[in-house]
Order: sequence, then structure tokens, then C-alpha cells
Amino acid sequence: MSTIKEQLIQTLVTEEKDAQRKITIVGIGAVGMACAISILIKDLADELALVDVATDKLKGEMMDLQHGSLFFNTSKISSGKDYRVSANSKIVIITAGVRQQEGESRLALVQRNVDIMKTIIPTIVRYSPDCKMLVVSNPVDLLTYVVWKLSGLPATSVIGTGCNLDSARFRYLIGEKLGVHPTSCHGWIVGEHGDSSVPIWSGVNVAGVSLKTLDPKLGTDSDKEQWKNIHKQVVSSAYEIIKLKGYTSWAIGLSVMDLTGSILKNLRKVHPVSTMVKGLYGIKEEIFLSIPCVLGQNGVSDVVKVNMNSEEEALFRKSANILWDIQKDLVI
Ligand code: NAD
Repeated sequence: MSTIKEQLIQTLVTEEKDAQRKITIVGIGAVGMACAISILIKDLADELALVDVATDKLKGEMMDLQHGSLFFNTSKISSGKDYRVSANSKIVIITAGVRQQEGESRLALVQRNVDIMKTIIPTIVRYSPDCKMLVVSNPVDLLTYVVWKLSGLPATSVIGTGCNLDSARFRYLIGEKLGVHPTSCHGWIVGEHGDSSVPIWSGVNVAGVSLKTLDPKLGTDSDKEQWKNIHKQVVSSAYEIIKLKGYTSWAIGLSVMDLTGSILKNLRKVHPVSTMVKGLYGIKEEIFLSIPCVLGQNGVSDVVKVNMNSEEEALFRKSANILWDIQKDLVI
């Protein structure tokens, strides 16, 4: 007696399905799931794998996403505690780890999350030796360095989300002040993701019109309109959101989607992400900080040389020193 499937379908060719655009997300907390839903809705992956140590939650999240399959075009969603499920990924997104508690700085998290990275990164690379790694876990710049060291991958293949989110927040707030959509408000934040990040006021423009040419005091203490407060708001916004809802998730998920798209589709878009900056701006140590990077299928293929004035460059180096002070004592 043949099954309904056998009566309905005659197979002509047996397909061996090797995913071409497989993405793995390690850590399926608030941030991991925001990344997952953003990537699915944007149809970026043909296979999405989820990995976490919390097995019940992992299965529940996988099933919940699978049941949405009617509404997006990703043919396979899988999950597991075992990293075999991640094999042959093009991009592995790292959101595993502990997050900031109310009032806790990103840097305070560091050794706890370094220890977690030690347990996961070598196994990921064993299953996906050619992947690009996108590090989201905080403190993201330090952990991107740690992931690079633990992975043995070229530095250009290990990317920290860095100031991609800070710059998105910056552009949103500039847009609010001007009544213009954020995509038309150009501005870059470089350096450390978070407290010591550096806004490049000389580059802020709308339609090529530099705001600093309209007021040379833009972003300084003597600026009557106090645009500086916008950067202060960028720095404090994560703390404020964590105080209000316990964590941040949607904007980082969307920003990871944006970076993933640039890599998978080899778009060569420029993003402010965390990359190895040794040799740039007088930095002598192997540290990761955000600068504008060209992102494509090879990860960070190029960096854009930003014209920083002496004050901005000093702040960038201060960001570097703050990180190096912690990084040099890390046990990896
Ligand atoms: P969360 O606590 O909701 O989720 C973390 C997940 O990691 C949990 O599901 C946990 O089970 C998992 N995990 C812990 N140890 C693991 C291990 N060894 N292997 C696999 N999975 C493991 O936290 P969240 O709110 O999703 O935040 C995740 C990270 O992202 C934090 O470090 C947070 O600070 C960071 N974050 C970064 C940015 C950014 O812009 N870079 C923005 C927001 C949050």
C-alpha cells in the first residue's frame, strides 16, 4: 500500500541539499532571536542554525520560527546544543554570553564572556573553517579580539558589530533634530562601542552639506545648539533601554541583518564595524575598534581612511588605551 506522499509525488532527481547561504546564530537570547527574525524576514539565508546551551528554550525558539515558514523563504531552520548543526556556515553570529545588568558597564562583563568564548569558538571553526564571524557579545571590541585569537581565522574574517549600532542611533537622533529620515543623515561614530566612542562631527552631512560648515562650533562645548548632547544620548541610550525593558534587542538585530547582507551578497557597503586597527592612527597594539570598513564576501576587505582632526584622533587613541588596559591582562 503506497503512502499518500508516494501517490502524490514522483521523485525525478534526488537532491543533495548543500546550503549556499547558511547562517548560524550562537546564543538565542533577546539579541540572538532579534538577529534571527531580522535575517529571516529579509530572506538572507537558505539555512539558519541556532545553537545555545539552554536546550528547552532552543527547541522552543526553533519550533516557533519554523511555524512561521509560510511567511519567509528560508528552507531550513535547525537547532542544537551540538555544533555539528552549524557545519558549513558562511557566517556565524556570536551573541552568546551574559549581558549587562542595570548600571553595569560593558567592560565589566569581559572575563565572564571570554571564558564562554573559549568553550565555543574552536568548535565553531572546526565545523565551519571558512566562515566569517560576526561578534555581537559585549564588550564587543575586546571579545572580537578574543574570538580572533581563539579562532585562528584571518583578522579580516572576524568582525565586531562595534559602532554600527551607535552610528545608527546617531543618525536616528540627527534625523529627529532635523526632521529628515536617518538614511539621509550621514554621520559616523568610531572607536569603542559604547562609553568612549568618538563622533566624527566633521563628517556629519545631509545631501553633502556639512553641518560643521554651517556652524564650525558643531559638537563642541561652545556650540549654542549643543549638538554634543546627541552623542551623549547615543552613549547613554543602551543604559536607558536596559533600565526600561531589561535589555536591548531590536536595533542590534536589525543592524546585524544589515552587516550580514553586505557580507553574504558581497555588497561592499561601508559600515562602522570593529576591526584590527594596529598600524592605523598611531595604534601599536593588536586591538579591535570601529572604523568605516568595506564589507563583502571576504569580510573586511578595505578600510576607509577617515580624516580625523587632532582632537578626534586623540579621543580615538584614548578609546584604544582604555581597551588595551583591560586586554593586556586577559587570560585567553
Ligand atoms: P541573553 O541573556 O538574553 O542571551 C544570552 C544567551 O547566551 C542565552 O540564551 C544563554 O543561554 C546563551 N549562552 C550562554 N552561554 C553560552 C554558551 N557557552 N554557549 C552557547 N550559548 C550560551 O542576552 P542578550 O540580551 O541576548 O545579549 C547577548 C549579548 O549581546 C550580551 O553580551 C549583550 O551585552 C550583547 N549585546 C551587544 C550589543 C552590541 O551592539 N554589540 C547590543 C546588545 C547586546
